[in-house]
Amino acid sequence: MSISDMLPQQCVLCGGDLIGPASLCLSCQDELPWPLHPCHRCGIELGLQPPDHGHCGSCLSDPPAFDRCFAPFRYEYPVRELIASFKFNARFAEGQALAQLLAEFVTSVYRPEDRPGCLLPVPLHPQRLRERGYNQSMELARAIGRRCRIPVVTRYCQRTRSTRSQKGLSADERAVNLHNAFALNPGALPALPDHVAIVDDVVTTMATVSAAARLLRGAGHRRIDVICLARVS
Ligand SMILES: [Zn+2]
Ligand SMILES: [Zn+2]
Repeated sequence: MSISDMLPQQCVLCGGDLIGPASLCLSCQDELPWPLHPCHRCGIELGLQPPDHGHCGSCLSDPPAFDRCFAPFRYEYPVRELIASFKFNARFAEGQALAQLLAEFVTSVYRPEDRPGCLLPVPLHPQRLRERGYNQSMELARAIGRRCRIPVVTRYCQRTRSTRSQKGLSADERAVNLHNAFALNPGALPALPDHVAIVDDVVTTMATVSAAARLLRGAGHRRIDVICLARVS
């Protein structure tokens, strides 16, 4: 089963009637936690008075391994709860609502000619994939790919080993935990796209996406973006 298989009849948040193909009614969409002035590079929220250059302090002093991180939401109610339902309880209506919103958002951030050449969902280790039955990042990438006509490539960036859950680890511990966690399989790509986008559900400390981005940079991709539902501030 994938999130493309179903169309909800009622808003997944309030149960109200839906107009059109959206999974959330318009008033619930209005109340979603859209971020205020995200950093032009890493997507972290800069608050009510962003600097003119539009970058956060850490991107100025120590830029991340990727070029841009796009996230339509803050990691807050109800997005946080929708993500948890989708990720841990296999609630595909919630997953579809999130995927639709993310795909719409992606159409607004790229001009058609600037879209990435492929989408790379952050892989789950095969054992975790077997336990969960689906990879939430892959489901999101597929929804974006369908909406924006970007190929989703799943066998290029792979997990080499099972990492501990990142929950509760410090930034340094996360970096150690992820060391050599990914490997690239160039045979999975017909040609090396200049521009790729990593797709993840939530970006917390950037450790996971940075590890993947460093690997991709080393392989010769010139522009590496990150697309996620929510960026934790
Ligand atoms: Zn609603
Ligand atoms: Zn930043």
